[in-house]
This record gives sequence, structure tokens and C-alpha cells, in this order.
Amino acid sequence: MLPPVRHTVGVHVLLVEDDIPIAVSLVDGLQAAGYRVTHVATGTAALAVTDVDVVLLDLGLPDMDGRDVCRELRARSTVPIIMLMARGDEFDRVLGLELGADDYVTKPFSFRELVARMRAVTRRVAPLAPVTDVAAAQVIGPLQVDRRARRVRLGGVEVALTAKEFDLLAYLAADPGAVCTRTDILEHVWDVNWYGPTKTVDAHVAAIRKKLGDAQWIEAVRGVGFRLGSVQ
Ligand code: CA
Repeated sequence: MLPPVRHTVGVHVLLVEDDIPIAVSLVDGLQAAGYRVTHVATGTAALAVTDVDVVLLDLGLPDMDGRDVCRELRARSTVPIIMLMARGDEFDRVLGLELGADDYVTKPFSFRELVARMRAVTRRVAPLAPVTDVAAAQVIGPLQVDRRARRVRLGGVEVALTAKEFDLLAYLAADPGAVCTRTDILEHVWDVNWYGPTKTVDAHVAAIRKKLGDAQWIEAVRGVGFRLGSVQ
């Protein structure tokens, strides 16, 4: 079992899992690692829980499709969501990410892998995260990308991005105007072990464009990839 680590202090996990042996083992492990855990076994119960920092969401629930739960959660908050997939759910992985999930793990997953992914998606809600320091943010026209606080503002108004959307935008913003290939993006924004369909990148680009209100912020370079454009 992992020793308690600083980032877990005060982090509230919502575990949505109807397989009781899996749930019991996860609750024990997460609590031992210092997380506060609320466990529910249905989608309906999950949607009734508020004030959580990260959601672990099983895809196959007795009362609702996990995808619908994900969509509902995403419609009402930017809470990081990690989907718990069954082996071979290739189509569902992509769909889950398109529905607004931040990441996924495939059963049987290691506890260590799950915690690593939780750490990655909850970085922006770490208790020690500083208040947005506009002076420290990268400024691209009306767009401000604050990597320290993991926040994006457009014309001074905060844009609510999921963790992966933020990572993707921050990656493109690291060198505005430079073309990043889909492979570069998948390797840096997802991880080196991600060899899923590149359609995932397009889905995230579409989501960011929609939130920024102008498709020109992210320009597609046919057959190559994407680059951060500028919208004045
Ligand atoms: Ca299940």
C-alpha cells in the first residue's frame, strides 16, 4: 500500500462502483493513502453527491449507463472524472473521453496506476494551489494561460476546461504558431502508452474551440496536426 502523501490531504473522492469486492478494496486503499472517500453503487446516487474533488466512475452501473452519468456530471461541473473500464472497451474509452472524462483505467488496474492518474487530474485542485496570478500567466492576445494555477482566461473571463483540455491547450500554447503533430500531442498530453485513436485529439480540440468561442484559436494543419492560432 502506498504511504500517505501530501496531495491526498483533504482530497474527496467519489467512487461509483457496483462491484462490491472491487469497491471495498478501493475504498480501503484510498483511505489508507489519505483520501476521503464516498462510495456509491448507482448512477442516481452518484449524481446526488456534491463537493467532490475527483470522480472514479465505473462504466457498467445497474441503473444508468456510466456514459450518461459522465455526461451529466460534466454538464454541471469541471470535477475531474476517471472512468473505470472493462478490458477491451476500446470504443467506450474514446467515447468516455469525448463525454468529458479526463482519463480512464482498464480493469484490472494497479492501485499505483490509479493513484498516479488521480494525482495527474487533481493537480489543479491541490489544496496548496495558488490563487491565479495574472502576472505569471502566459498572454496570447486576449488569452491567458496560467500553468501554475492551471487556469485559462479569455478576455479576463475564466474558461472552465477539463484537465486534459487544459493540458492540450497549454501544450499548444508553449510555442504559439508552431505545428504540433497528433503523435506529439498524444505523447505529451496523454502518455507514451496511449496508442488509442487519434480521433481523441480532434474531440478535445473541438471541445476547446467551442469553449473559446472561435475555431481559429486552434488551427488544423491538414495531414499534420494542430497549432495555436491567434484571435484578436
Ligand atoms: Ca459495474
